[in-house]
Amino acid sequence: MKERMIEITCPVCGHVFQIKRDTLAIAGISDTIEKRLKDGTYFQHVCSKCHHLFTMIYPFVFRDAQKKTSLVLSQQPTIKGFDQEEKVIRCKDADSFLLAYQALAQDLRLSFLIRKQKQWRKIWPNASFESYDQEHHCLWLRVQGEWKAARLTKEEEQELKTIV
Ligand SMILES: [Zn+2]
Repeated sequence: MKERMIEITCPVCGHVFQIKRDTLAIAGISDTIEKRLKDGTYFQHVCSKCHHLFTMIYPFVFRDAQKKTSLVLSQQPTIKGFDQEEKVIRCKDADSFLLAYQALAQDLRLSFLIRKQKQWRKIWPNASFESYDQEHHCLWLRVQGEWKAARLTKEEEQELKTIV
């Protein structure tokens, strides 16, 4: 939806190129995009010149109409054009956008996940939250392609499920 040509610069070799990307995705409609937001690969790109994998940054909005929530990836200081009733979550980079997406899609409290992810990254710098496992009372995270489980206390689990 809403495709646009975007100018991207490879952070490794400086190669500048144009790429066609969606700038808006809608929950329940943009299935292919959601699949790649879920597995964390949506903003990744392999440079055609130096073949390094890197994360692209460009203006992008994910909207869940039912939950009246929009996730906005933007480096602009202010964002306009949203309804007063809309909950707008601003993310300054792809990494925080992906975490906000997981929280929204799984109905989890974002501030809790941000705090947890920060703790994990003190031990594993690339740890990223993947999913909440209600049955085993833990959170699953990915560390360099491997899965790890982080057990939750009863209190933590309660906090995780309380959306404010
Ligand atoms: Zn490159």
